[in-house]
Amino acid sequence: MEYSQIRQNFERHGFTTQFFSTKEEACCYLSDILQNQTIGFGGSETLMEMGLFEVLQQKNVVIWHNKIPGLRVRKLANCADIYITSANAITETGEIVNIDGTGNRVAMTAFGPQSCYYVIGKNKITANISEAYYRCKNIAAPLNSRRVGAKTPCAVKGDKCYDCNSPDRICRIVSVIERVPLGMKCEIIFVNEELGF
Ligand code: SF4
Repeated sequence: MEYSQIRQNFERHGFTTQFFSTKEEACCYLSDILQNQTIGFGGSETLMEMGLFEVLQQKNVVIWHNKIPGLRVRKLANCADIYITSANAITETGEIVNIDGTGNRVAMTAFGPQSCYYVIGKNKITANISEAYYRCKNIAAPLNSRRVGAKTPCAVKGDKCYDCNSPDRICRIVSVIERVPLGMKCEIIFVNEELGF
C-alpha cells in the first residue's frame, strides 16, 4: 500500500502523521518541535539508531532506561508529558501493536502523556493485525530477547517464537491501539528506511 493511503488510514483513526525519507530528517523535525520539555523514551532500537536521545537532550530533559537501566528510570519516564517510542509493528489499516515485558511502553502509549510520538521505519509496516502480531512474536521479540541477553529459546535459536514459559520471557503484555486514546495527541512519524526491530 502507498504511504499516502497508510497515512490517511491513521489520520482517520485520530493520529497526525509525518513522512520523512531519512532518520536524520525525522531527528531534525523532532528537535525543532521539542524544546524545554521533559520527555520519556520507550525502549527502542529505532530511537537508538537515530541518535535521538543525544539530539533532544541538548534542549530538553530526556529520561530513558536504555541509557540508565532500571525500573526507577522507567517510572520517571512514565511521568513525562511527552513520550517517544517506536512500535513492534503497525498495520496498513491504521493500528499499532506492541508487546512488552515490563509494560512501561504499553502503559504510556495507552494513558499518561499529553503527546505520544511513534517513529516507524518501513520494516515495521504489516498488512493487518494478525500479520502485525506475527511480526511482534517471530521477528521483533526474538531480536529483542537476544539484545537484552534473555535466556529464551527464541534468543538462543533466533528463528521464531516458541511461546516459552521462561522466567526471562519478554512477551508479557500485548497492546493494540485502534484509535488515539481519549485525551492524548498521537503522531506517527514515518521514515522510509529500515529502523530497529
Ligand atoms: S514468548 Fe518466549 S520464545 Fe516467544 S518470542 Fe516471547 S520470549 Fe521468545
